[in-house]
Amino acid sequence: MRGKLVVGNWKMNGGLRQNDALLGELRAQWAAPGERELAVCVPYPYLGQAQAALSGSAIAWGAQDISEYAAGAHTGEVSAAMVAEFGCRFTLVGHSERRALCGETDAVVADKAVAALGAGLTAIVCVGETLAERDAGATSAVVLRQFDAVAARLGTRIGAVVIAYEPVWAIGSGRTASPGQAQAVHALLRERLGGIDGAAAVPLLYGGSVKADNAKALFACPDIDGALVGGASLKAEEFLAIARA
Ligand code: PEP
Repeated sequence: MRGKLVVGNWKMNGGLRQNDALLGELRAQWAAPGERELAVCVPYPYLGQAQAALSGSAIAWGAQDISEYAAGAHTGEVSAAMVAEFGCRFTLVGHSERRALCGETDAVVADKAVAALGAGLTAIVCVGETLAERDAGATSAVVLRQFDAVAARLGTRIGAVVIAYEPVWAIGSGRTASPGQAQAVHALLRERLGGIDGAAAVPLLYGGSVKADNAKALFACPDIDGALVGGASLKAEEFLAIARA
């Protein structure tokens, strides 16, 4: 059976004091219920804080990005091995904000997924179409192109990643994909994964304005195994309510 996973993406938010409160509340209120998992992806400077606050708890932590390079003259970059030293279990790769704002191509995202796995991290590979692409009827083509770029590099190691479908138009917009819209894309990804040895059980997360009040309907879809949560992961109560849904 595929496990359930809810991951918070803090984006560029936080501060030492507010993180202490948020992480403390999450730790206090989350006991590992069955196959459900909870994780937070925090900005790099707070990885040590997350490690200290969450070690020994049922909550995992991770980074929001890693370099595709292992080491060397890449000023400002952070390698997968570096974040792994902070006990990270996960790293996001290919978040749409990085694709759009930092020019990350499918090839770079695939390289990052390879780097993550090489350091023992689970890559959460983000895919998703823009509104213009959806309106042009290109959703499937875009999502599968992004997925295939990573699958081609990883081969059967794709079985070790998590995929997050995040329609760009739903991120931070308050406009969630309907359960039907999300399920249709997840079914497509599930079918693709089913054709790769050992990949049928890859968790598929939905992301894009997930809140406590829409999580249940999304999670009721057969191919949605959890969520990648941005804004709502900054409030312990809301984030926990999503995870409990
Ligand atoms: C995200 O940043 O991955 C995300 C899904 O954001 P939000 O939940 O705020 O739409």
